[in-house]
Amino acid sequence: FESKLPNLGTSIFSQMTTLANQYEAINLSQGFPEFDAPELLKKQLNHYVLEGMNQYSPSSGVPRLQQQIAELAQRKYGAEINADQQVTVTSGATEALFVAIQAIVRRGDEVIIFDPAYDSYQPAIELAGGKSVNIALHAPDYVIDWQAVASAVNKNTRAIIINTPHNPSGKTLKQQDINALKAIVSAHDLYVISDEVYEHITFDGQPHLSVLRDNALFAKSFVISSFGKTFHSTGWKMGYCIAPASLAVEFRKIHQYVTFSSFTPAQHALADMLEQQGEHVDELSEFYQQKRDVLSNALKGSRFTILPSEGTYFLLLDYSDVSELNDVEFCQWLVEQASVAAIPLSVFYQQPSHDKVIRLCFAKSDETLLQAAEILCQL
Ligand code: PMP
Ligand code: GLN
Repeated sequence: FESKLPNLGTSIFSQMTTLANQYEAINLSQGFPEFDAPELLKKQLNHYVLEGMNQYSPSSGVPRLQQQIAELAQRKYGAEINADQQVTVTSGATEALFVAIQAIVRRGDEVIIFDPAYDSYQPAIELAGGKSVNIALHAPDYVIDWQAVASAVNKNTRAIIINTPHNPSGKTLKQQDINALKAIVSAHDLYVISDEVYEHITFDGQPHLSVLRDNALFAKSFVISSFGKTFHSTGWKMGYCIAPASLAVEFRKIHQYVTFSSFTPAQHALADMLEQQGEHVDELSEFYQQKRDVLSNALKGSRFTILPSEGTYFLLLDYSDVSELNDVEFCQWLVEQASVAAIPLSVFYQQPSHDKVIRLCFAKSDETLLQAAEILCQL
């Protein structure tokens, strides 16, 4: 059998969580909250299931949820979104990313992605018959060299995928990055897929620079988000894509044959949540900033170097002073010998990266974070 994706194994997130369970380690590897979804969300999901909202929803989403998503984009970014034509509800951001990529990438097209890149982009590009052009960013600052991006663009380039706040680095794009991206996109016939799943988690008073803030950039973009991150409900696999109507038409052609529609009761529950407890979204940055600070303060006495986290629920540690091992070996050692599971960064690079950096997820109780830090401080 000739595999369509011969180089692909099991995702690092599944691997590390399996190891964490096997060794009964503190699992700071795969990114998911240790705390539960808001009461209202759970109550309303239950309510709609019992009320009999158990059949297909319209393929693009339950209209009142589409409306709430459009209103959120208006309130946060001043975007004028047509809920009916531009918002499509999906089964997680993963589905939205896959569908957006299938919608635009043709055989032989190139897509620029930035390494360390979230692991679902590359397989989706390859399945569409395209090829990724990976531009590597490195510790400690993971800055994008936009000159290098401009030089990588050629007649086959179809799209650029950005991710801000960025998983795994925790970096956010700044206005000069958005300006540089916009200049490249307008000089060439390119699309942007903007992975903004951590849009409501930015620190130290920095605003999230959504592509939705800029009409000209949005005109060429698919903007993708996930309710899993926003409402501590990664297991629900609910997300969405906002795109200009002409792109949403193409997106929906594929979405209808990937899943057709997403879980109906959850869509109603999410609409209620956004309608009745919009403040949850506004409080998320402060909530996670406190978690970031608990973990980084507790690690101050350790031999790890803490890299800045400007958003997401991830913190990077440089372990050069702790171990000579490469990052995959170090994470293996850490979970087996120290009972802490982390994610090695090199797995998110196409070209080998020798940075000695691991990722910790701080979407955990303070107690869990302090326990993990206590172990790490002894290394
Ligand atoms: N993009 C990034 C950068 C992510 O971190 C994640 C989730 N870990 C996703 C996409 C996928 O989101 P979802 O779980 O909603 O499919
Ligand atoms: N996005 C999560 C992370 O970065 C994991 C998602 C998954 O397990 N596929 O850890």
